Amino acid sequence: MTILILGGTAEARQLAATLVADGIAVISSLAGRVSTPSLPPGKVRVGGFGGVDGLAEYLRGQHTSAVVDATHPFASKITKNAVQAASRTGTPLVKLKRPGWRDHPLSGTWTWVSDAAAARVAAEVAVRPFLTTGRQSLQDFQAWAHREVLVRLVDPPSSSFPERWTVIVSRGPYTYADERKILTEHGIDVLITKDSGGSHTVAKLDAAGDLGIPVVIIARPQPPPMICLDSVAEAAAWCRSVENLRFVGRSIT
Ligand code: NAP
Repeated sequence: MTILILGGTAEARQLAATLVADGIAVISSLAGRVSTPSLPPGKVRVGGFGGVDGLAEYLRGQHTSAVVDATHPFASKITKNAVQAASRTGTPLVKLKRPGWRDHPLSGTWTWVSDAAAARVAAEVAVRPFLTTGRQSLQDFQAWAHREVLVRLVDPPSSSFPERWTVIVSRGPYTYADERKILTEHGIDVLITKDSGGSHTVAKLDAAGDLGIPVVIIARPQPPPMICLDSVAEAAAWCRSVENLRFVGRSIT
């Protein structure tokens, strides 16, 4: 029996490390979007499952005792699939949900929007925008092809980019000093980001606040109703309890 961790986040890797250290069998699942992903300890599988049907089949085939959805807060499709597949197969499921930035001291000064298209509209007057909304949102900013846009991505872009755009390829965590330097050196006049939450990428928001640079931020999609845990420690405790129950059940029958 194995715990399946739907991953692609730092928290998913930390959870895998904790459970492996406890001697619990885990398989971490990655979508395969990043060319050289940071790999967690334990077994890893890569690639989509093939929708709800494929995931349900996988859960049965691997004799999965529980699933932790530790995917990124904006990865809403895999979360919905996990809820349906877990319900169909009777597999216990929790969401490890990284706390967002709604409680950040400056959050009241940011312009909150529902998606990337709304973010572009909200930042329309900007001259030097800095986009950290991820590769998948870039098509919503194509109307800015003629502008001096700074884009930060984890992987080099796969398709061609507007000539006037500058692309930085890098992966967090980022320090306050580095973020401040990027904002000032590129003359950024608006930061467009999404509520990814956590500490690894929050420094840009602190630096923008100190420099008086406006922030447009995309709010998180609403997750489906499911049990949510805030921390790796809570998720690890939940996995241990599932494993313990399984052993109790086995000794009774
Ligand atoms: P998504 O839109 O929710 O999922 C699209 C499809 O990708 C899913 O239907 C599934 O394919 C596959 N998939 C997603 N996560 C998977 C996983 N952990 N293991 C196996 N298959 C997975 O997801 P996304 O927004 O493209 O994100 C993809 C991955 O990147 C996630 O694992 C997420 O944690 C990570 N990530 C996302 C963001 C973001 O901003 N969205 C940021 C950082 C990291 P099938 O239907 O074929 O199973």
